[in-house]
Amino acid sequence: MRLYNTLTKRIERFVPIKKGHVGMYCCGPTVYDFAHIGNLRTYICEDLLKRTLKYDGYEVTHVMNITDVGHLTSDADTGLDKIEKSAEEQKKSAWEISKMYTDFFLQDIKKLNIESPTILCKATDNINEMIILVKRLEEKGFTYRIDDGIYYDTSKFKDYGKLAGMSFDELNKSLKAGARVEFNPQKRNITDFALWKFSPKDKKRQMEWPSPWGVGFPGWHIECSAMSMKYLGEHFDIHCGGVDHIPIHHTNEIAQSEGATGKKFVNYWFHVEFLLVNGRKMSKSLKNFYTLRDLEKMGFDPLSFRLMVIDSHYRDKIDFTLEKLKKYEKTLNDIDISIKTMDILPLKEEKRDDLRAIEKSFKKAINDDLDTHSALIELFKVIGIINSHIKKYSISKENRDKIHELIKKMNSVFGVLQDYSIPEEVLDLAKRRASARERKDWKESDELRRKIKESGFDIIDVKDAYVIVKHRNFGETNGKSIDIGHNTDKE
Ligand code: AMP
Ligand code: ZN
Repeated sequence: MRLYNTLTKRIERFVPIKKGHVGMYCCGPTVYDFAHIGNLRTYICEDLLKRTLKYDGYEVTHVMNITDVGHLTSDADTGLDKIEKSAEEQKKSAWEISKMYTDFFLQDIKKLNIESPTILCKATDNINEMIILVKRLEEKGFTYRIDDGIYYDTSKFKDYGKLAGMSFDELNKSLKAGARVEFNPQKRNITDFALWKFSPKDKKRQMEWPSPWGVGFPGWHIECSAMSMKYLGEHFDIHCGGVDHIPIHHTNEIAQSEGATGKKFVNYWFHVEFLLVNGRKMSKSLKNFYTLRDLEKMGFDPLSFRLMVIDSHYRDKIDFTLEKLKKYEKTLNDIDISIKTMDILPLKEEKRDDLRAIEKSFKKAINDDLDTHSALIELFKVIGIINSHIKKYSISKENRDKIHELIKKMNSVFGVLQDYSIPEEVLDLAKRRASARERKDWKESDELRRKIKESGFDIIDVKDAYVIVKHRNFGETNGKSIDIGHNTDKE
């Protein structure tokens, strides 16, 4: 496999540290609110990478963290803890908030067919590991103490800006230029960051722990260094996240891990570009976001969003619109109908379809820096072959089996085609409808179609037979527009 590496800024051949095995760490959500579909794009692309590695025969250990403490509202280590702030606003405890949004996140990734991580680890379960890591950094002289916590002196780490491709001064200047808040004047460098923050003197925090430096809580970046090295070792293969993590979060992870161990932390850095709305990054602070729930309320199938993500390259921006999503939902529906129709075609001997070139091109595309767009074109070629069989209205058993086999392989990477069973009562309604049609009782047949739809399915007549597929709304909820509560047009 060839993969773009943010660290070297080149596409490189992927070589794992341990033959046949890949250790992969993905920065997970901060669980103070619902994830938006921009966040979810990143997790879908990471899932595509993991599934491709598995397709190639690797065993993948995939670790994802849950940030349930320490992520402040400002990147300059000031402001409030996002979880505690949300807890106050919603009149719940910080623990309840993080549990609730972790559960919602797990539901979202399930709906998007994102495979569960091998290990899902919470920051609050790993405070001790973080304290030990900060102590190691302290012993090596990387830390200093100021009024509100223990900080990392980034000027002491050689090549601090290497991931962002900037010198130390350039990175400091760019952070200053992009900052929305004043920097703490006690900090030695703008890029310095908190490893351990002290609890405020005037207010009791809900989440706080004793430490060698005083009662407090970890800075946001230390959790990912501590947990990735705990589960994958001090040197591992792939580290993933969105592009916004390059100049701060991941740069700081490298400084922490390599500062403490004195050796290389990660071989390949994988970063996913932004999902945009009207040309701007989808984000909570711009209030221009949709959650997966919003899309579902509007009558979309979550997997249509997954298909949209697959159709673009992970290093390209996606401009999200509901119109585009409708188009993907229609495509998904057409694929579903074609495959189901193939299954009812009369069997007849015929010459063998040549699928080998398609499979080869598919494999080449996914291994070419995850070119899922080109890989998807190969799936469409298979659907084209199916449609030509439908046109002839026959297929051989061998061709049908081979097509299923290939689609199954492709879908092991795409994860976009869903197996679903059709309930007995719907099958029964369909049989009754077929006999109503035989009797030319169109009123009864229409009524039965309506009932089938009510149960969540559509029936499609194909010559003298029919297929049943999951009903999709294409973003139409009985013509009613739903107020989703955010403003997607303005700031
Ligand atoms: P957060 O919960 O804010 O830490 O974000 C979770 C993940 O989503 C991180 O890897 C971010 O880099 C990524 N992310 C945030 N906003 C976007 C966006 N608009 N498009 C794609 N990924 C994003
Ligand atoms: Zn992280």
